[in-house]
Amino acid sequence: MLRAYKLRMYPTKREKKTLNRQMLLAKELYNLLLEKAKTHYKETNKTLSRNTMNLWITKLKVERNEFTEMYTQVLQNVADRVSKAYSNFFKRVKEKGKGKKIKAGFPRAKTFVQSLTYPQFGFIIIPNKKRIQVSNIGTVETVFDREIEGKVKTLTIKKSRSLEWYACIIVESEDKPFASNDKEKIGVDLGIESFVTLSNGQKIENKRYEKKSSGKLRRLHRRVSRKLKGGNNRRKAVIKLARLSEHIARQRNDYLNKISHSLVNSYSLIVYEKLNINSMLKNHNIARSINDVSWGNFIKMLCYKAESAGCRAIGVNPRNTSKMCNRCGSIKEMPLSERIFSCSACGIRIDRDINAARNILNEGTAGHAGSNASGEVATTATKIAASSLHELGTIHGNCAIGNPCL
Ligand SMILES: [Zn+2]
Repeated sequence: MLRAYKLRMYPTKREKKTLNRQMLLAKELYNLLLEKAKTHYKETNKTLSRNTMNLWITKLKVERNEFTEMYTQVLQNVADRVSKAYSNFFKRVKEKGKGKKIKAGFPRAKTFVQSLTYPQFGFIIIPNKKRIQVSNIGTVETVFDREIEGKVKTLTIKKSRSLEWYACIIVESEDKPFASNDKEKIGVDLGIESFVTLSNGQKIENKRYEKKSSGKLRRLHRRVSRKLKGGNNRRKAVIKLARLSEHIARQRNDYLNKISHSLVNSYSLIVYEKLNINSMLKNHNIARSINDVSWGNFIKMLCYKAESAGCRAIGVNPRNTSKMCNRCGSIKEMPLSERIFSCSACGIRIDRDINAARNILNEGTAGHAGSNASGEVATTATKIAASSLHELGTIHGNCAIGNPCL
């Protein structure tokens, strides 16, 4: 299983200068490679292979001495990012060909790059000295607030928008045989009124951190827009705004971590609704709230925490979960304003979210009894972990695995 750790780094002034310079070079290289790939694509309708790009990087280093300041694998990782941007582009072209209503859009040039990745070598982690030795950068002070377990794979140094530095470390740990914790099974309904409603009737509050700070956020946004573009004051205002957004994200993340931790330790099976969050975000009225509660992140957390707690987390089709009576199965329309589900067939009157949570549990336990369930769950969890890692590799990606990550 792959895990990500995100640790705070405190580079010295000099190290920061080096890092910033290398990020500028990485941006330049990215855009150069993108141009090359674009020309190549227009001529041949094909992508540039990674090999060709790496050969070209070697040539570039001869012509432009400053690129020799960077660790070779870090440069090659930039080529990987360009390849990835291109394969995503081709995926979009293919989907468009199948009739999906999307814009294929060429990969665009970067205006900034905020991370450097050491994909394999070039760094040594020294926890007892609170440092990570990074080739071509320095031996950077790092806070190890937890032990790093497993085989270290990659290191990504990131700069946040509020100019904080982080080391994202990906490790591979051995899969332990699964041992169930023998506790009860539960269905969870995710919502806006309450963040989580459990099939046993328990409700967990939606904290709405963003809403609480919305006045402050708006004020900072206004301050940014009033300052002159490109000016020093604007830069300062942008950092202040970023600091608040990152603070809100951290609060939200802590809260989600706590809830998911307590759930996986209290139940042996957690059934949730598979949600299509992207299509929901298109509905602008509720988009803000959905963003705020970040269900997607929560489900990722449930999945990766479940296994080590002896718990299974499975997603089920959300069809009819709020429209169906959990006792007799009859179906009725349930507009969002109706908070109570009252069944005309069997006479049950029940909170709509609790009814949904029970339907979700029924759905999850009916089809997934026995050993069959475990295999499917494991793949879901692995897939989610892998997709999170995928994001981590990109420049603005959040790593959603491992508690430390925002
Ligand atoms: Zn009924």
